[in-house]
Amino acid sequence: MITSPAFAGKTYGVFGLARSGRATVAALHASGAQVLAWDDGDAAREAFDGELTDLGTADLSGLAAIIVSPGVPHSAPIFARAAAAGVPVVGDIELFAQARADLPPHRVVGITGTNGKSTTTALIHHILVQAGVPAAMGGNIGLPILAQDPLPSGGVYVLELSSYQLEITESLACEVAVLLNITPDHLERHGTMPAYAAAKARLFAMQREDGIAIIGAQAAHDHHLPGQHIEDVTTGDQTAWPALQGPHNLQNARAATAACRALGLSNAAIAAGLASYAALPHRMERIGTRGGVLWINDSKATNPESTAPALAAFPRTHWIAGGKAKGADLDAVMPWLGNVVAAYLIGEAAPLFRPLLAPKLPVTMSGTLAQAVSDAAAAARPGETVLLSPACASFDQFRDFEHRGDAFRTLVEAIA
Ligand code: ADP
Repeated sequence: MITSPAFAGKTYGVFGLARSGRATVAALHASGAQVLAWDDGDAAREAFDGELTDLGTADLSGLAAIIVSPGVPHSAPIFARAAAAGVPVVGDIELFAQARADLPPHRVVGITGTNGKSTTTALIHHILVQAGVPAAMGGNIGLPILAQDPLPSGGVYVLELSSYQLEITESLACEVAVLLNITPDHLERHGTMPAYAAAKARLFAMQREDGIAIIGAQAAHDHHLPGQHIEDVTTGDQTAWPALQGPHNLQNARAATAACRALGLSNAAIAAGLASYAALPHRMERIGTRGGVLWINDSKATNPESTAPALAAFPRTHWIAGGKAKGADLDAVMPWLGNVVAAYLIGEAAPLFRPLLAPKLPVTMSGTLAQAVSDAAAAARPGETVLLSPACASFDQFRDFEHRGDAFRTLVEAIA
C-alpha cells in the first residue's frame, strides 16, 4: 500500500467506493488520516465494510480534499457542494502524486490518448520488467495505484490516465508523458473536442521543465501541441512482434519505444520486450480457428476509430458490430469496408448502422451477440475471419466490454 505522512492528521472525503475508492480509504487510514466515505449506490455501500457518512448532506468544511472516482460526472452535486465549502475535489492519482515525495527515488510515465492507452501502458511495463527494472502499472489498468506496494529505489510507475482522471489530477509531474492520439470520444462528458483535448493536455501542463513529452504526430498537428524536439522513432523488425499486429500497434510500439528510450533503456532491451509481449485480452485477441475460420475478439473497440485498425488487419472479414453507439457515423471504418464480406449488427446501434453499411455490403440484423455468432458461423468460409469489433459501448446488452468479450468467447467455444 502507498501511504504518506503528508496525509496524517487530516480528514478526507472519499466519494465512490468501487475498487479504487476502497483502496483510497485504506491508504488514507494507514497514513493516519480520518476518512468520510460514501457511495450513492446501495450495492457499493453494502460491499464496503467501514463507517459510512453521507457526503450529500455532511458538513464538508475543513476537509483536506474529497477524492472522487473518475466516473463521477462533474455535474454531480458533490462538486458544487465541495466548491461552496472551498474543498478541492481530486482523484486517487492526485493522492499518489502528493505521496511521491516520501517514496524511494523513482520515475513516473503517464500515458493518455483516445485509443491504445492500455496496450501502450502494458507494453511499457512489460519492456521494463523484462529489462529488470522494478516497475508497477496502475491508473486505469491493473490494481489501484494506492493499493500497490511502493517500488524500490530506481523503480518506474507506469500509469494509464484517462481524460476523466486527468481532469481531477493537479500535480502529477510525469518524467515521461505520452499522448497517443485524440479522436472524438467521451464527448458526452467533455462537451467539445477542444475541451476533451484540453483535458488530455493537462498531462503536459503538470510536467516539470525537464520532463519529456511524447506526442503522436497527428494529435500534435491537429491540436497545435508544442513539440520542441521531434525524433523519428523507428522500431525495427515488426515481423518479430507476434502480438502486435496492425498499424495502430505500430503507433503503440513506437510510443512505447520512445518512452523506454527516454528512461534510458537500450534498443536491444526494448526490442526483446516488444518481441515477448503477449496481447491483452479483448484487443484483437485470437480465440482460435473453427473449420478453418479464424475468430477474433476485439470487444474493447468501443468507437469507430478503434475498430478501423481491426478491419484493416483482416481481409475477408465477417464483422459483428453494434451495441450502444457513441456517435451517429461510421466514417473512420469506411476506408476498410473492402475487407468486409458481410456485417452482422447487434444492439441499439443496429438500425443506425444499417443504412450506413447496406449500400456497400450484405448486412444481417442479428440483434443479439448469440444470433450474430450463429449467423456468421453459418456464412464464413475457410480462410475467412469472424471479428467482433463493435465500434460501440456495450451497456445496452452487457455489463462492460469484458463481459461482452467473455460472452463472445463462450459462444465461439461452443461451436462444434
Ligand atoms: P484504451 O485503453 O485507450 O481504450 P486499448 O489499448 O485498450 O486502448 O485498445 C482499445 C481499442 O483500440 C482496441 O480495439 C485496439 O485494437 C484499438 N487500438 C489500440 N491502439 C490503437 C491506436 N494507437 N489507434 C487506434 N486504435 C487503437
